[in-house]
Amino acid sequence: MRNEIWEWTGFNAMEPRVAERSVVHDGQVEVRIRAIGICGTDLHIMSGHAEFAPPPLPLGHELAGVVERVGAGVTSWRAGDRVCIDPLTGCGKCGECQSGNKHRCPDSGEFGLHYPGGWQRYMVLPHANLYRLPDSISFEEATQAETLHCCLGGIDKLNVRIGEHASVVGDGPTGLYFVQLLKAAGAGKVSFIGMRDSRLKLGQELGADAAANINSGDSQLPESESQDIIIDAAGTESSLALCIALLKKGGRLLLFGLPGKPIAADVQTIVLKELNLLGSTNAPGVWPRVIQMMASGQVKVKPLLTHAYRFEEMDKAIAFARSQIDEAVKIIVFADDTKGELR
Ligand SMILES: [Zn+2]
Ligand SMILES: [Zn+2]
Repeated sequence: MRNEIWEWTGFNAMEPRVAERSVVHDGQVEVRIRAIGICGTDLHIMSGHAEFAPPPLPLGHELAGVVERVGAGVTSWRAGDRVCIDPLTGCGKCGECQSGNKHRCPDSGEFGLHYPGGWQRYMVLPHANLYRLPDSISFEEATQAETLHCCLGGIDKLNVRIGEHASVVGDGPTGLYFVQLLKAAGAGKVSFIGMRDSRLKLGQELGADAAANINSGDSQLPESESQDIIIDAAGTESSLALCIALLKKGGRLLLFGLPGKPIAADVQTIVLKELNLLGSTNAPGVWPRVIQMMASGQVKVKPLLTHAYRFEEMDKAIAFARSQIDEAVKIIVFADDTKGELR
């Protein structure tokens, strides 16, 4: 049985390949991938700015599809089930795994980063990495559950109180999700701070009460020492400095964007303002809530899905993503029989 795969093969390079479909072992499930989200991490891996595993490797960790085959001992899934995929794995035996924190497992890894990901027609993975998709969530929307689960895990750590003033710095997809989640969590006024007017406008359409483009001066920015909460979804030295300046004394700062290298911070001010800094990555326990929020419309994904390609055009999708056009918020690759059009 034939599988089609796109592999990252070296510096900003990728190639299609045909292979036999994998054997489905005990406890495993084969998913026919239907939609794949292109993530900034994919680009960083391809350019060598993020290193997890050497090429050749099929990337892709924002995935949704349909169960095709199940291995022996799998009773919770059957062919035809609509699913989204949690790409994270742990050993399953250590204390962190057993307490629901597989992302902290010493042996944790991720499909599409450390192991072959979803740039394939058919992907085999452990049955425990699947979540059931209600019919009301499309496959392309479901690809965003992975990103959203990281964002929701971060929001949970902030213990948002109703009415608090909050800012999001960074106008990528995660910034647009954080704006919505802060509003859903009860923040009173949410300011969205970025560098691209089209993204800032979208953020306001999705619930931000104010928006500020840092390239057009300080006039739109929240006042210094005015914010109870800030989420740094950019992860640069300048975004961190801005967050520290805007936070009230005793404020909470969620560090979410990855700088990729050590950066300087004004620790003197952090100490004197008694700021609370929180790092956040994955949050395995929040997946069911993410799916509930998507199904109920409490968080909207569709407005972020701006461009679509077909599986055969994966190289074009990646090249387009690399062009970093402001309007291209999230690019979806369809691995199904449709023409690759967003519905
Ligand atoms: Zn991602
Ligand atoms: Zn473990």
